[in-house]
Amino acid sequence: METLEAALRPLRFAAKSPKNASVVKGLESTLKKAGRLAPGPAISSAVVALASGLDAASPGERHRRLVEALGLLESSVDAPPADGEARPEGPGPKPAPMERPRTRSRSLRAAVAPAAPEGPPPGSRTPMARARLGTALEQVVGVGPKTAEKLAKKGLRTVQDLLFFVPKAYEDRGTMRPIASLAPGERATVEGEVLLGQSRMAGRGRRIYEVVLGDGTGRLNLRFFRFRRQMMEEKFPVGARVRVSGKVSRFGAQCQMVHPESDPLGGGEDDGPVPVYPDVEGVPARSLRSIVQRVAAACGQQIQDPMPDEILQRRSLVPLDEAVARVHHPDSLENDGLERMRSRLVFDELLYFQLALGIQRTRREAEPGLVHAAVSAWELRAKELFPFQFTEAQTRACTQIVEDLAAPRPMNRLLLGDVGSGKTAVAMLAAALVRDGGRQVAILAPTEVLAEQHARNARRDLEANGLRIALLTGSTPRKSRQALLRWMKTGHVDVVIGTHALLEPDVDFKDLGLVVIDEQHRFGVEQRSRLRRQRDDVQPDVLVMTATPIPRTLALTAYGDLQVSVIDELPPGRTPIATRLLSNGEAAYARIDEEVEAGRQAYIVFPLVETSEKLELRAATEAFDELRARFPRFEVGLLHGRLSSEAKNDVMTRFGKNEIQVLVCTTVVEVGVDVPNATVMAIEDAHRFGLSQLHQLRGRVGRGQHSGHCFLITSEASERLEVLEQTSSGFEVAERDLQIRGPGEMLGVRQSGLPDIVLADLVRDAHVVEWAREEADALLAQDARVLGPDLLPLRTELLRRFSHRLSLAEVG
Ligand code: ADP
Ligand code: MG
Repeated sequence: METLEAALRPLRFAAKSPKNASVVKGLESTLKKAGRLAPGPAISSAVVALASGLDAASPGERHRRLVEALGLLESSVDAPPADGEARPEGPGPKPAPMERPRTRSRSLRAAVAPAAPEGPPPGSRTPMARARLGTALEQVVGVGPKTAEKLAKKGLRTVQDLLFFVPKAYEDRGTMRPIASLAPGERATVEGEVLLGQSRMAGRGRRIYEVVLGDGTGRLNLRFFRFRRQMMEEKFPVGARVRVSGKVSRFGAQCQMVHPESDPLGGGEDDGPVPVYPDVEGVPARSLRSIVQRVAAACGQQIQDPMPDEILQRRSLVPLDEAVARVHHPDSLENDGLERMRSRLVFDELLYFQLALGIQRTRREAEPGLVHAAVSAWELRAKELFPFQFTEAQTRACTQIVEDLAAPRPMNRLLLGDVGSGKTAVAMLAAALVRDGGRQVAILAPTEVLAEQHARNARRDLEANGLRIALLTGSTPRKSRQALLRWMKTGHVDVVIGTHALLEPDVDFKDLGLVVIDEQHRFGVEQRSRLRRQRDDVQPDVLVMTATPIPRTLALTAYGDLQVSVIDELPPGRTPIATRLLSNGEAAYARIDEEVEAGRQAYIVFPLVETSEKLELRAATEAFDELRARFPRFEVGLLHGRLSSEAKNDVMTRFGKNEIQVLVCTTVVEVGVDVPNATVMAIEDAHRFGLSQLHQLRGRVGRGQHSGHCFLITSEASERLEVLEQTSSGFEVAERDLQIRGPGEMLGVRQSGLPDIVLADLVRDAHVVEWAREEADALLAQDARVLGPDLLPLRTELLRRFSHRLSLAEVG
């Protein structure tokens, strides 16, 4: 059988010098073979990528790639502990570093096989004390095969995976809490008497087991959805005193714990902090904890810290092995030591993540891009286009964009700013500049209403300056579409604004120079890149605008593949929109009466929940009739997503001309409708909207010279909504929204990076996000692909974690 060791021999010889490399025949196929023999897909694919085209490469390049590939292969070899005696117990094989004994290739597999662990044949299981970081859990004595299977489902396949499986919380089992003092959301340990224990039906043929515990201060419900009755009866006999630990949640007016851990009195775990791990289905919390802790104790010392010392010192990070040991075996909850341990692991997670994205980013920037002529006179151009002066923040963003446009690398930039901060104006300027340089611009919007809005703005700002504007949406008639496509192809259109219709395969440009994406969190990475690929020669420049500000930490994560410009200032003269929470609409309607009497206009917004669109629509339509009766002297219009785009346009146009004074609408207005004369907005059932969405909605009023009013009507008491009364900064609202809803929900759709982040909490760890970005940028500035020999451990770890995200082209 071929061994990796055998394949490495000629490679080692060849790697000694460029001359050696050119003497050895068939280097490419030898290296590929070695790559395929390497443990784990990450290293394998990296090596194979390095090998591709090797025979045809120049001698210098061939040698460089060979050294790099060999480094990867060698680094994956199971290095003995620095101190030969420190190997955890037992006389096991002790390969000397220089000799490379024949056992190497086997232990090598065990060392770094992240996804497809292999090892000794079945039956020869490894004692825990002798397991290596790469040993498959199913081979570790003390981890049952069933359990190993369950762990694998959660992505925990090797010893190393388990070491980095970090507790989500700690429970202080030493301190008993009176039941009356429990609050939903916290974790606690409680001691009490079993008052009741029963299995009962809980609808749909499902049984649950319920236990009621009393301690003299109150009662606590324990609920189990998966249980064996006999076991429950043994654990919770009525009258017995038991101790339970778990997360407290609300159950009607009382508190409950779902699937708590329980201990008979006296037989419990040690007092003191106990780590609580994320659930692994089918593995009881107690067994899980025991396995992780035993593995950590037995194998934790093998961890080698790949992080350069310089970074560790600069950020005052604790050594990796210490962090891992302490998170699994905390000595105390008191000091902030535990937090420092956690920070270290969070930092690593974020750093590798930023490195992975950063490599993609720098890689793209290294590709040829377009140089747009005539952008340096941008300030003059801005004066021609707009009757106002750019704010400082807008100017900063423009400078960055202009620099990108002038440079021979593709722009990939995110423009982040509050509603009304002037992002669109900046984007329109960029469009004009690109057109001045002779190229075309595509503006992609998430909805037709918004596309039409942009088209109106573009006609106002750009057409007067000689640019030819066109609109392409799903409702563009076939004939006009065909004509338009022809014009785009022949270069008779300068700026095309559209929806997803712009992504159709038959859409083609003569010379596309800039793509502006009004992101609204609705386009996925995939769609972004589809437009980017519109040209096959070079990448057009791309500018992404978010409609709602998102916290910078989230931007760095979800849009880590982009550069970020922030507009954190509103144009002068804007007064904040006065926002009030109301329990019913009457005060809002009275205000609408006043404002409309004074010649201004109003929105009344209804939520539209996707799952019951029809019902909601009926509600809005019914409300529309009522509101018409409520405002008999005004013209009331209705706008919702189900209307044909003609009907929508008609309503919008009439609202724009003040032929309609009160516009009843669903959230279609959310996306960028701009009627400066509208000064009041009433939002019904406001609790059904996200904070950021509400903030964005209210940004639709008070855009003109008169100040705006927003009424949030909700029958539910809501602390959450009070944030909107208190601040007018979209960034603050977003920060709060992120805290409450978490990143996934806040962004609405699945975003590029988020599924990869499990440890870090983007709110709590905001500063660590910044550190990681800075360090990753600094590393990449020195070494754009992390290829340097001193960074090899870092690179190996990066590949272990992120090979799925880094395509072959990017690692090779
Ligand atoms: P955003 O796209 O960020 O929501 P817009 O670019 O649509 O913001 O700007 C909102 C409104 O403010 C528009 O009517 C725009 O013409 C105006 N505007 C933009 N920048 C300025 C500025 N620097 N000074 C005054 N008005 C501005
Ligand atoms: Mg460029």
